[in-house]
Amino acid sequence: MAKLTFLGAAGCVTGSKYLIEAAGKRLLLDCGIFQGSPELGDRNYQPLSIDPKSIDYAVLTHAHLDHTGWLPCLVKAGFKGPIYANPATIDLTTILLKDSAHLQEEDALHAQQHGYSRHANPRPLYVAADVDPVLKLLKPAPRTGAFAVSAEFQFVAYDAGHILGSTSLELTITESGKKIVVVFSGDIGQYDQPILKNPTTPSSNADVLLCESTYGDRDHEAGNASELLAAVVNRVAQRGGSIVIPAFAVGRTQTFMYYLRELEDQQKIPHLPVYVDSPMALSATDLYVKYREDHDERFVQLESGNGGKGDPLNVHEFHLTRTTDQSKAINNVKTPCIIISASGMVSGGRVLHHLEQRLPDPRNAVILAGFQAQGTRGRALQEGAKTLRLFGHDVLVKAEIVVMGQFSAHAGKSELLRWLTALPAPPKQTYLTHGEPGAAQALQRAIQDKFQWKAAVARYLDTVALGA
Ligand SMILES: [Zn+2]
Repeated sequence: MAKLTFLGAAGCVTGSKYLIEAAGKRLLLDCGIFQGSPELGDRNYQPLSIDPKSIDYAVLTHAHLDHTGWLPCLVKAGFKGPIYANPATIDLTTILLKDSAHLQEEDALHAQQHGYSRHANPRPLYVAADVDPVLKLLKPAPRTGAFAVSAEFQFVAYDAGHILGSTSLELTITESGKKIVVVFSGDIGQYDQPILKNPTTPSSNADVLLCESTYGDRDHEAGNASELLAAVVNRVAQRGGSIVIPAFAVGRTQTFMYYLRELEDQQKIPHLPVYVDSPMALSATDLYVKYREDHDERFVQLESGNGGKGDPLNVHEFHLTRTTDQSKAINNVKTPCIIISASGMVSGGRVLHHLEQRLPDPRNAVILAGFQAQGTRGRALQEGAKTLRLFGHDVLVKAEIVVMGQFSAHAGKSELLRWLTALPAPPKQTYLTHGEPGAAQALQRAIQDKFQWKAAVARYLDTVALGA
């Protein structure tokens, strides 16, 4: 009997890992790192409940670290199978894993030097040398459409509209002549966002559905994203302040660059210097431009403008920082500017330095666009914290904190229901994953009310029978 185990993204939004066992084979779907509270972070250091050597294949829905960032640990622990992903996801995963290893080494070193870690000897989860063996296992799958991993596991990929290369996957399992169809939503994007196409709902009848529920309990803030951003930029610039945007280099950074460039071209905001403080942001942006099959119609139009030299992801005064010294030099910029820096949930990375510098000044603003998980500094800021613990001391929060879910890479509640409405038939079993308990339960109720399907909230480390 085929079965599924929730090894992550069950009761929380990170650590995506689903193990499928059927016909004597094991397949891992996604291999994400846990992020957020220290308790979740500790899970990254624990071994899997099964031996990674016994897993035959892995398949990735998209490149975000909470879906790929644990791959170096999996491979260190003996996994040797192929890891299928589409070319855009392979390219993004390559830069993300290298950057992740680098940041973990930097953070561990910094914590050691300053002695503020909870651990006596803070150590990185993995280092740069652990990433190459993972890259050798990555195997290209088509961007959309069918591909076979083996006789028993056949996939169809659909564009999920969440980040470049993001997919929803439909898996047909063949066991003893019987077929079971499992649909994984992956992370579902917002409809009508710039750059990327809309999410596409898989078209086969699903026996089992796993659906993400990040925003299962709410819709994003109302209002036009572009106008709201213009208003923040203008009021902060007028009072002589700066804007810090905590954002991962893949996804939100490109969305902000797109909107800022558009507002500059429409002369709705001044040309401020924009510092993208990430060694890999430029590579990620290049990939966004390179993979044209992901572009929506408007983006194609903008690119073909100016005699084919349209550059819609490039603001007029763009500064890229690669080294730590260049990053620190931004502290000396006292005139209005915009700083985009990781991590998106303020759990680590260079954005910490910028916030330490900019939070105490009421002229400044911080824009929170992405999901802020429980236990992260981002969540504390979102909930109105008056101080923030950074590098072992409390920093006063005087800057204006602006929450702008309009820029989120995730579908809000109504959009999740819109995606589900397009399924051709009710699934026999539905599990809500990738959501904090309140959000997953709210989506469960909404599904039962709207569609009268039975849906369950996935529980961490639970194993369930498929097609029972
Ligand atoms: Zn994601």
